[in-house]
Amino acid sequence: MANYTPMIQQYLSIKAEYPDAFLFFRLGDFYEMFFEDAKKAAEELEIVLTSRDGGKERVPMCGVPYHSAETYIERLINKGYKVAICEQVEDPSQAKGVVRREVVRVITPGTVIEEQMLEEKENNFLVVLAGDGHRSALAACDLSTGECHITQLEGAEDLLDEAATYHPREVLISGALARDKAFVKQSSTRLGSVVTPVDEEELPPLAEMERQLREQFPEDWSLLTSPELTWAAGVLLSYLRRTQKRTLRHLHRLHRYDVRRYMMLDDSARRNLELTTTIRGGKRQGSLLWLLDRTATAMGSRMLKRWLDKPLLDLKEILARQDAVEAFAGDPILLEEVRTRLKGIYDLERISARIAYGSANGRDLRSLCRSLQAVPSLKEKLVQSGKPVLVSLAERMDPCADVARLVEEAIVEDPPATVKEGGVIRDGYDSGLDELRRIQREGKDWIARLEEREREITGIKSLKVGYNKVFGYYIEVTKANLRHLPEGRYQRKQTLANAERFITPELKERERQVLEAEERSIALEYRLFAEVREAIAEQIPRLQALAEEVARLDVLQSFAAVSLEREYVRPSVEEGGELLIEEGRHPVVEAVMESGRYVPNDVRMDGDRRQILLITGPNMAGKSTYMRQTALIVIMAQIGCFVPAKRAVIPVVDRIFTRIGAADDLTGGRSTFMVEMAETRQALMQATPSSLILLDEVGRGTSTYDGMALAQAIVEYVHNHVRAKTLFSTHYHELTGLEESLSRLVNVHARCIEKEGKVVFLHRIEPGRADRSYGIHVAERAGLPEAVISRARVILEELESRSETAATGQLNLFQFMAEPEREKGEMSAKEKQVIEDLLSWDVLRTPPLDTVQFLYELQRRLRDDEKSGGR
Ligand code: ADP
Repeated sequence: MANYTPMIQQYLSIKAEYPDAFLFFRLGDFYEMFFEDAKKAAEELEIVLTSRDGGKERVPMCGVPYHSAETYIERLINKGYKVAICEQVEDPSQAKGVVRREVVRVITPGTVIEEQMLEEKENNFLVVLAGDGHRSALAACDLSTGECHITQLEGAEDLLDEAATYHPREVLISGALARDKAFVKQSSTRLGSVVTPVDEEELPPLAEMERQLREQFPEDWSLLTSPELTWAAGVLLSYLRRTQKRTLRHLHRLHRYDVRRYMMLDDSARRNLELTTTIRGGKRQGSLLWLLDRTATAMGSRMLKRWLDKPLLDLKEILARQDAVEAFAGDPILLEEVRTRLKGIYDLERISARIAYGSANGRDLRSLCRSLQAVPSLKEKLVQSGKPVLVSLAERMDPCADVARLVEEAIVEDPPATVKEGGVIRDGYDSGLDELRRIQREGKDWIARLEEREREITGIKSLKVGYNKVFGYYIEVTKANLRHLPEGRYQRKQTLANAERFITPELKERERQVLEAEERSIALEYRLFAEVREAIAEQIPRLQALAEEVARLDVLQSFAAVSLEREYVRPSVEEGGELLIEEGRHPVVEAVMESGRYVPNDVRMDGDRRQILLITGPNMAGKSTYMRQTALIVIMAQIGCFVPAKRAVIPVVDRIFTRIGAADDLTGGRSTFMVEMAETRQALMQATPSSLILLDEVGRGTSTYDGMALAQAIVEYVHNHVRAKTLFSTHYHELTGLEESLSRLVNVHARCIEKEGKVVFLHRIEPGRADRSYGIHVAERAGLPEAVISRARVILEELESRSETAATGQLNLFQFMAEPEREKGEMSAKEKQVIEDLLSWDVLRTPPLDTVQFLYELQRRLRDDEKSGGR
């Protein structure tokens, strides 16, 4: 390094601190990159790679202009990179030697706050996972809105599922999990975001971390009641401090929640049900979110997405939301008036964040002001409705009138985008500024009148007063007129081809006054603006609270708007065990279909006699749509929305599991069948009697017998042990026999009829089993050659007659001898004791014979247990 130029040496020492980021090194009007950064950036950004004399060698270099840097930064961030912005921190003209430079901020995918780099309707979460996988915690922060959520979890699987609900842009993993390579890799495939294991050496000592947390979250740090929570929040905060290098005043609340307060939806359920994106294409359009989103503000849209990711379990909260939706839905005129007013409210959360960062400009403050001014009339409408829920919503809104007034008084109506060139502060706001502006105005007036005066005095009609950057103001006389000019009246300044330019001492004096006043007023304006912004920054907590109320109101009115338009009804959500949907519809399929074409269907389930609905019917008959529609209706009910049905009674469901469709988990690198089994396992292991399980064509991914055997075993297990409400669709007609042996299983089928030898799908789910397979008809409809169809009919007949013989003969593989029912918690106390004893036996330190004796004893105890009937 010794032979490099001082500047390159400076570069290298700064770069050493940010090895994982592109270092944007400010050099005059450019950000330059050197060495490997330069090569990589040239490639990623498609800009020219040059080189520069670095002393001992030429070093690769490329650069982007300072004023357009943001678009380049955005491109790098979108590709998952980090960018460290290194500025000159002293005036180059004052510097001795190399100008001092420092990194002022590291922009990373999860810490973006720039409007252009964000999706308006999406949160931008940075998620921290901490712990060892057994006891863990998660912290999720959106710096662009100032929200921060934390929770405690057990198990690595749950941790990833919970992380997925945030759709994070960036993930940090710390603690023992960071050393678990498989977990790190799994996180990055499952979450599809930039994942960085945190190097513990970079973290401050625990005591310091705690001090920082107390300082940042004065009201909420005491919520960090476990080492994992403290650790997760601490890692988050230290990362933000290290990258943002400023006080983050808009980040002052910690929202701690308990995952058990919300319906659990793992990411496969979320994906399969297309809650926020479609399976194919991953688009918002076509998802439930897309359908329900009639919000008028970006804040509302983001909150809706969070609600969808976390349906409620608390009946009181659900009813409170429903009450508000009902109030709006019952008064379409009010609804419309509220919507119009909401549309006038800008993104208060993100404006607040920019204010905290000191990057908000005059336009942001004006947008803030206009938004705040819209609040009183919004409140008024809600109060006038006379409906208690809406009145109390209104009462919680603080319109922050003082903030609006300050902006109104201080900032001009239509400010420029930049805050450093004046024109931002209103006349009359500050007397000093008014005085400077008066001087400028008078000076300019005098100069403007000068032209007229001098024309009169000299008699030169074409004389004019102009301005240029080099010479300032001048008087211009054409060559032809020079002879009319009295000798010595002006001082010559510049000669042009056919004119001369002059100045006078008085003109120069006036000019000096004007320019000086201008310079001083620009500086003053900037100071005043910063003061206003600072004063508003003090009020950020109030603005954020208002933003939250507005967002909430917006989501509720959005639910009402869709419910009205699509004729949804208020479901009766109850603690009981009955699930009843009369004439239910799939909200999205219905919406994209021609109106009136969707065929409504009933669902009736309970825990006693109708726990499992076994759905049969040919492909394309509507089985999977029926199952999804049931899950979606439950979710809609638990987020507080109305539902597409004529009537619905929904029990509070704690988890929904899905095994739907045959979409390969290509990104996860697992085969279809493996995914199928993994999802099924999840359901069997974790579901409770309050859960809802959708199993679509389980066993299809393997050979027939194999698959059918598995399918039956799974149904039996769900029936006897899991006890969750389950919709189980299958094309194995043989399984319908289970109705006889499993008391809580009921057959239903998707009805089809034959018309002129062709199959017609009615999309109606009716009691009983489907009586035959319509596969051949479907094939016919798909246009398979007639020869294939007729041959298939012959083969089918033969197979059917053969299986009839088999059914009466000895060798029936599927007699559906259902496994005897056994209650949950099947292990007896004695069995448990045996296992405990076995686990506590120290094999290494006991003589082998003693161990043999011990095993013998255990066996004896178990056999006794068996004889006594397992109890
Ligand atoms: P299966 O799971 O039985 O193969 P699907 O549920 O995928 O069948 O449904 C097949 C198609 O039938 C869907 O794409 C949908 O367009 C249509 N469909 C399903 N249910 C209904 C219904 N209730 N009303 C109208 N069309 C429906």
